[in-house]
Amino acid sequence: MSRIVYVNGRFVPFEEATIPIMDRGFLFADGIYEVSAVLDGRLVDNEAHLARLDRSLSEIGIRNPHGIAEWTRLEEELVTRNGLKEGLVYMEVTRGVAERDFAFPPEGTPPTVVMFTQAKTVSANPLAERGAKVITVEDLRWKRRDIKSVALLAQVLAKQQAAAAGVAEAWMHEDGFVTEGGSSTAFIITEDNRIVTRPLSTALLPGITRRAVMRLAEENGLTVEERAFTVAEAQAAAEAFFTSASAFVMPVIEIDGTRVGGGQPGPMTRRLRDLYLEMARAS
Ligand code: PMP
Repeated sequence: MSRIVYVNGRFVPFEEATIPIMDRGFLFADGIYEVSAVLDGRLVDNEAHLARLDRSLSEIGIRNPHGIAEWTRLEEELVTRNGLKEGLVYMEVTRGVAERDFAFPPEGTPPTVVMFTQAKTVSANPLAERGAKVITVEDLRWKRRDIKSVALLAQVLAKQQAAAAGVAEAWMHEDGFVTEGGSSTAFIITEDNRIVTRPLSTALLPGITRRAVMRLAEENGLTVEERAFTVAEAQAAAEAFFTSASAFVMPVIEIDGTRVGGGQPGPMTRRLRDLYLEMARAS
């Protein structure tokens, strides 16, 4: 089956999909993206992702070209056309195509919409069994990290450092505290079983998986504490993990070469991953 992608109202073979060189996403990273997981051929927690897409677009003044129902229909059609059972749907909206000029293009310039799928093992991920190692890097990003902008250069550099170190993720820190992962939300679990993650602010992305995991934890009688934590505290924690739409709940077993929780995925992290998978399969 050939790969089908979506570009501005049309489903086309991947090889035929093109974007003009004057697209502002290409020239200025002037766009927003979103990623939803697909499990058993169905979208996971998708309405929350679409709500965040809407909010990100509105924060930078791009008109959302579709409502939730239309986005969902397009995503589902893309999943079906690609026969996708497990993986993700990527969506991007840019401020459109216009002669290069920093200020917004003329009123009525249509946003560019691109969507594609990626097949990926998200449920039976061997890394979740072994546990992931992470390194820490300075957070080099701008001050509106709550917006899911396609300007990802700082994350590209952080993730390349992680790849060069042979680890799965880079946790970014600022003023001594962990902000979040390059493409994930960072969590630790304290010796007295408190699940700790940084409170939402403009310093980090409001993770959709973060929200779901916090809700599941609370529904199951676990304690969640929203506060910032340092790298040293994370290294000394009972357990650590990160969350994202495609990693779900990923145990962390090493931070900057220091083993966490005896170098094994911890029991509470495993439980949270199971709870999340159960929720995802039921969605
Ligand atoms: N933080 C950053 C910087 C990310 O890129 C991501 C992944 N989109 C996340 C957190 C996790 O967000 P979500 O759970 O919505 O995928």
